[in-house]
Amino acid sequence: MSNYNAYFEIASIFFLVLILLLVSIKRQLDIVQNKIFYWGIVLMLFLNIVDALSANLINYESIHSGQKVVSIYIHWGLSILTFLIQQILVQLFLVYVTIATRDIGEKAGLPFYILSCISIVYYILILSTPFTKWIFFFDEQGAYQYGPLHSVLHITPAIFGLYACIRMLLDKKRFGRMQKIYVVIFAAILTIGTLLQVIFLPNYLIIYFLVTIILTAVFFTLHSPDYYLDKTTMAFNHEGLMVMINERITRSKPFSVLFLSICDFENIKDGFSAENKKHVYSRLCQKLFKIPKTDVFREEDRLYILFNDTSKAEKYDKMVEGWLKDGIKVEGMHEPVKIVAEMLSFDFPGRIHTVEEFNSIIKYFVMGNYYKSYNVLQFINEEFFQKKKRYEDVRRLIEEAIRTDGVEIFYQPIYSTQKDTFLSAEALVRLKDRQTIGFVSPEEFIPIAEKEHLILQLENIILREICRFVKQERLQDYGLEYIEVNLSGNQCMQTDLYEQLHSLIEEYEISPGFINFEVTETSAIDNSECLIQNMQQLLDYGASFALDDYGSGCSNLQYLVEFPFEIVKLDKEIVWTYFGKGNQKVKSVLPLSVNMLHDIDVRIVAEGVETEEQKDELIRMGVQYLQGYYFSKPISEQEFIQFLKKHNSCV
Ligand code: C2E
Ligand code: CA
Ligand code: CA
Repeated sequence: MSNYNAYFEIASIFFLVLILLLVSIKRQLDIVQNKIFYWGIVLMLFLNIVDALSANLINYESIHSGQKVVSIYIHWGLSILTFLIQQILVQLFLVYVTIATRDIGEKAGLPFYILSCISIVYYILILSTPFTKWIFFFDEQGAYQYGPLHSVLHITPAIFGLYACIRMLLDKKRFGRMQKIYVVIFAAILTIGTLLQVIFLPNYLIIYFLVTIILTAVFFTLHSPDYYLDKTTMAFNHEGLMVMINERITRSKPFSVLFLSICDFENIKDGFSAENKKHVYSRLCQKLFKIPKTDVFREEDRLYILFNDTSKAEKYDKMVEGWLKDGIKVEGMHEPVKIVAEMLSFDFPGRIHTVEEFNSIIKYFVMGNYYKSYNVLQFINEEFFQKKKRYEDVRRLIEEAIRTDGVEIFYQPIYSTQKDTFLSAEALVRLKDRQTIGFVSPEEFIPIAEKEHLILQLENIILREICRFVKQERLQDYGLEYIEVNLSGNQCMQTDLYEQLHSLIEEYEISPGFINFEVTETSAIDNSECLIQNMQQLLDYGASFALDDYGSGCSNLQYLVEFPFEIVKLDKEIVWTYFGKGNQKVKSVLPLSVNMLHDIDVRIVAEGVETEEQKDELIRMGVQYLQGYYFSKPISEQEFIQFLKKHNSCV
């Protein structure tokens, strides 16, 4: 049992010192896992030194046939110390994995208690072995001998290691596929190594060496500090932020965040290369690094400054604002590049409780829902939370509507002044009220659906609902000539809009001439090329178009000439202004518009007609169609059918 060889320990020591050096040079996230990893390396180093010492001593004495160099107590002490450290190390490994895979507020659980008992038994067996000789002992020549329970030295760490590995492999959120493959490979190497040593190479201590090699591999793969670094600025990256926030929240450690969402750079004449942009970011981060007791994180155009305490962000906001306003000097540019950013600050604990909440606040903020002015710190207050909550409730309602086809279409009849009957109607979407947040106006939920990229799914359901109704109730039979359908800006942008609409209209066997699409001016401006192409195809197919909300924006003639609109809808506002008490100049917009539209031969719909006086005056001006509460509010399908039965004589 003697003649140990300590070459492997020497090699281990070399590797471990190397990792320790690297660990201390590289910037590390200030999280418990990193501390555990660090102390794991230190203990491993200590273990190898003690082990090498102990093995060499035993070796020396047995070669020199029992000649004592040190007292037998030292041998006992060194061996016991080795095995104690060995167990502490596997326990550290387990803690490391547990922290990495733990959910917020997760309790220890049964495996923890079982493993703790095993560990206690192990320590008792090791510490009592000088008396019991169950694990190991030294014979008369001072040679190391196995006791009957010697295998405990291998079995206990194996149980701990196995449990830690299983925990990692079962983790769904935090460990990716590649990381799990590494874990399996490392575990396999260690198991095979242990078996090899026990069976074939009792004189070499290769297990510790293998562990060292694996630790080195872990350092460069699973635990690499580079993984959390943003190469451009040497700040930490978004992954690092998530790990850090997660740990802070899990351990209830307070922090505050100063968040910068960079929107623009000023003082740039023409051309600002990606290189320059990197330069600005890296210089800005260098300034931010100077703020004491903080960590800086970068995620593209977003910077997060994390303070180790609450309310700290507010103490440094003026300084940061100053840096943004003064700008960053860039080589080759005369003036410093000024930075335009939205700034937000918030604390934990306080306004946020989970990582999801953290992310949803940032998301809500950067979508431009809340900021009031640039380069001025905003706080998360009651108003912020209420607005955010409303936004999220509406989003949930939209998602639910998409899931359950839960939209309802209301129809607002449109009166033909020439034929004195209702020739068309505008389809207006309603979200079905699910007793949660009550009625939500399309004016509120359509923009949210657009921001959340849910609009196309929603629009699809809306169009399908309209087509189904048109087909099912045979609306033409009631004297209707067409239905007006609103198209959002996003829809106008779809290159396959024509294919989508075409296939839907065909599926429900509707005459294409029965659909008139309403497009607002802003959608037209934003997507002109693509829209014209779509419009042309749909026109060739037989559908028609109306320009919606005319007079609400910067209406100009150009669109009417450029786009093939057959109908123009005068916005409620200019109708109301005309009939209101306002000044004469503004009032003249309506008659001027009507005359001009007559001249270019488009038909006119006036929206928002609420009184008889308004109706008569608009008829006198020669407006062909009227829509508004005077005739009817938007009404449900059933009410709409009743309405047509009552008013349209041709049934
Ligand atoms: P819009 O296209 O201008 O629709 C007309 C809006 O004016 C409707 O509001 C209608 O209820 C309201 N209105 C009509 N006559 C009167 C009146 O005499 N007095 C007053 N005070 N209001 C009147 P609604 O239904 O709340 O829709 C608001 C906006 O939501 C619509 O404005 C439209 O831009 C959008 N929208 C509605 N349905 C859809 C849809 O299916 N798709 C898309 N993309 N947008 C839709
Ligand atoms: Ca409309
Ligand atoms: Ca309108």
